[in-house]
Amino acid sequence: MKLATKFGHFGGVFVPETLIPALEELEDSFLRFQDNIDCLEELGHFLKHYAGRPTPLYYASNLSRQWGAEIYLKREDLLHGGAHKTNNALGQALLARFMGKKRLIAETGAGQHGVATAMAGAVLGIPVEVYMGAVDIERQHQNVLRMQLLGARVHPVETGGRTLKDAINAALRDWVSNLDSTHYVLGTAAGPHPFPTIVKYFQSIIGKEAKEQFKQMHGGLPEAVVACVGGGSNAIGIFSAFISTPQVVLIGVEPAGKGLETNEHGAVLQKGVDGCLHGMISKVLQDTDGQIKETHSIAAGLDYPSVGPEHAHLGKTGRAIYGSATDEEAVQALIEVSRLEGIIPALESSHALAYVRKQAMYNGSLSGKAVLVNVSGRGDKDLERIAEYV
Ligand SMILES: *Cc1c(COP(=O)(O)O)cnc(C)c1O
Repeated sequence: MKLATKFGHFGGVFVPETLIPALEELEDSFLRFQDNIDCLEELGHFLKHYAGRPTPLYYASNLSRQWGAEIYLKREDLLHGGAHKTNNALGQALLARFMGKKRLIAETGAGQHGVATAMAGAVLGIPVEVYMGAVDIERQHQNVLRMQLLGARVHPVETGGRTLKDAINAALRDWVSNLDSTHYVLGTAAGPHPFPTIVKYFQSIIGKEAKEQFKQMHGGLPEAVVACVGGGSNAIGIFSAFISTPQVVLIGVEPAGKGLETNEHGAVLQKGVDGCLHGMISKVLQDTDGQIKETHSIAAGLDYPSVGPEHAHLGKTGRAIYGSATDEEAVQALIEVSRLEGIIPALESSHALAYVRKQAMYNGSLSGKAVLVNVSGRGDKDLERIAEYV
């Protein structure tokens, strides 16, 4: 392995022996992809003409007035597919084609990453199979239909809690048996090396664009950059442009479910312990017997009992801080942003917005500050879930 496999104490490659050559081949191909002008041009072409990059940066003047901070929204909700996941799926699908792979597999929880991979497979002409927990298939039927319409096969996963964690295990099992033909498109900046680094690379376009756009519109640098954290890909994507600029405060926002005092939440970086899951060492939500806990957030895309290893590292070193927002706070922010700005953010993104809201109003830490917030996706998929609050 030529790239660093770890972020401080976190990350690494904790997988069955049989996967090691595939991960080495992936790293090697990724390094060549990054240096290949034709590959980068093609990626740029698809990001611009197919996915609609650059996404706008929008100064939310109504929210800014209401909340008492200068709020800039990075509009990943306007990306084709409705969320940042398209950046990673397109990037990895092109990488897979560069590697000569003839088949893509993916895991999905809420279905967003499955849809993004199905879109990328469709446009590039590569067959896609998606592993999805049987419980999630029930809960996210719309996205199952989308994947099928896009030509992907969806495999129900009936093991464990039949949700995202089990879908990742099933995808890894498939990959081990089909290494020659298949690339596993992992959906977030987690898993064994080199996945966290690859996903960060494809999502770093968010930070690059936003930094430049902010400079043009406001001048200088934002005082804080805020993003929601599930596995951590949209957050690391926007953070990446600012990590080496210590005066910019980086804030990741995790789901607190019904509240941090209940044990059904996904605030992994605040409540997790060091552990090993899905091929990496990171923070993990587990009980005293080492059993992984099921998480329950109103935002299905944030329901992951671990987090990408770079976030564990950024948290430990203090370079980033991690806060949380409850289901209720997220819904309130979603409704307020919809009414004040005419933008319906995803419930996931609404966690970041809710955190900004509470830290800007009532003289909190973001009061009066110039804040860059990543709107990771659009909320159309969430209408059923919030119907009772409207
Ligand atoms: C999947 C998803 C997330 C969470 O994933 P990360 O890897 O943490 O970015 C956040 N927002 C939206 C809209 C999503 O679909």
